[in-house]
Amino acid sequence: MPTFRDLAIAAYCPRQLYYERREDDRSPPPEVADKRKLAFQYPELLEASSLPDEIPVTPTQFRTNLHCARARFDRFEELAAPPTEMVSLEGKDVRGVAHKVLDNPPVPSLVFTGSPPPEGVWHPQTVHAVAAAKALSWERKTPVERAFVEFPTHGIVREVRLTTRKKAAYRRALRTVRALDGPPPRLKNREKCGACDFRTKCGVKTRSLRSLLS
Ligand code: SF4
Repeated sequence: MPTFRDLAIAAYCPRQLYYERREDDRSPPPEVADKRKLAFQYPELLEASSLPDEIPVTPTQFRTNLHCARARFDRFEELAAPPTEMVSLEGKDVRGVAHKVLDNPPVPSLVFTGSPPPEGVWHPQTVHAVAAAKALSWERKTPVERAFVEFPTHGIVREVRLTTRKKAAYRRALRTVRALDGPPPRLKNREKCGACDFRTKCGVKTRSLRSLLS
């Protein structure tokens, strides 16, 4: 059964998933765990006199972002002290780990260690969040209409509503993963390739810094 992450990668680039599945070690790099821990320390971070090195924004910005999340989301206090953490979920079609699960009504939260987009959530993370909500819904036998996505290095929390469009993106990614049995074509949008670890293996030439600046 594919994982939430498989779907997210397939939503970014199916060929990248093809390469990643051939890697011996698919575990995240060690610094991811350090950054993820920040999502479980919001009360302490709001009070701390200095912030950990993993946080790239200023203390003022970080705290402002967390205060905004608290004001915006009715369930922020539960996110700050979640009833359950690192929950393995298995749905009808996908499985994976939700970093936090809130109860009554159930809502999953996924923690990402990169930077957030200016608004909303990156497309692969949307697919990841919908997959987690679907699996949680299947396990609890109740509709799950939203998921949270946290960017703890920035103190930012965003919400993903399971709209028709987002559920369609999830189903597209699921179909892509299920159909994967050989290397899919390279992306036409080569801008995405600049951040891909498989550039060399894939044979994609990205533009040099000099050509980008000229
Ligand atoms: S280099 Fe580009 S096309 Fe190739 S796997 Fe990575 S993202 Fe996909």
